[in-house]
Amino acid sequence: MDLEIKDKVIVITGGTRGIGRSTAQLLAQEEAIVFACGRHSTDFDNENIHYHPLDVTDYSQCVNLRDEVLKSYSRIDGLVADAGITADALTQKMTEEDFIKVINTNLLGVFNIVKAIGPTMQVQKHGSIVTVSSVVGEYGNIGQANYAASKAGVIAMTKSWAKEFSRKGEGVRVNSVAPGYILTDMLKSVPEELLQKFEGMTMLKRLGQPEEIADTIAFLLSDRASYITGAVIDANGGMRL
Ligand code: NDP
Repeated sequence: MDLEIKDKVIVITGGTRGIGRSTAQLLAQEEAIVFACGRHSTDFDNENIHYHPLDVTDYSQCVNLRDEVLKSYSRIDGLVADAGITADALTQKMTEEDFIKVINTNLLGVFNIVKAIGPTMQVQKHGSIVTVSSVVGEYGNIGQANYAASKAGVIAMTKSWAKEFSRKGEGVRVNSVAPGYILTDMLKSVPEELLQKFEGMTMLKRLGQPEEIADTIAFLLSDRASYITGAVIDANGGMRL
């Protein structure tokens, strides 16, 4: 299916690695203009992808990014709020620092970038925002109270923004993709036996690839998803059936 995403201007936080990077590459192949953001610079072999430094925990950096993109292109058609981290521990061992660090990146970080770009889309009267939440935000997980709270919050904000940004008929769509376990750097610290357990919990008997989540994100960004807003799309191999 042709997503007809050519020339759309799309910002991706967490665009330098994992799911965000795969999404940037897919969109650039479809000839979108992509701003792939993260704290550490990286190279891309597609000239449609521009790296932009960004720490999502700093709202002023989100505003600067928006202004730079608008200076060059006068519009932002899509936003993927993907940047996220983990700092796992059982609750009795989880430090306040690790709780706050995860909330600051995964919850406040998504709030910051959407606060910077969502109102611009309202003024334009078009735009698609895709947040990246998690199966853990829907069902919880041992050792991830901080992460689960952040992702449940992302889902709640997504639904709030779907209402807020189109309350006067602006047509801005806001959706979330909730991945299961996807083979990226984020899973590097997870022991092999746990990964095998997660695999066994899926109906497809395997973990996901970042490209599979990129496909779902690209669809939601595109006009092919023109009647979908406020939705949380599970992409977890049937983990919770
Ligand atoms: P990776 O660790 O591979 O990539 C994380 C990305 O986020 C990097 O580009 C990183 O770049 C960026 N990032 C982290 N902190 C910040 C920050 N403060 N400001 C800006 N960018 C930041 O993770 P994944 O690709 O696996 O995860 C992407 C999203 O998907 C996350 O929100 C994650 O919670 C979610 N997810 C992942 C799952 C999985 O199994 N992998 C499952 C469910 C959800 P840099 O470090 O340079 O800043």
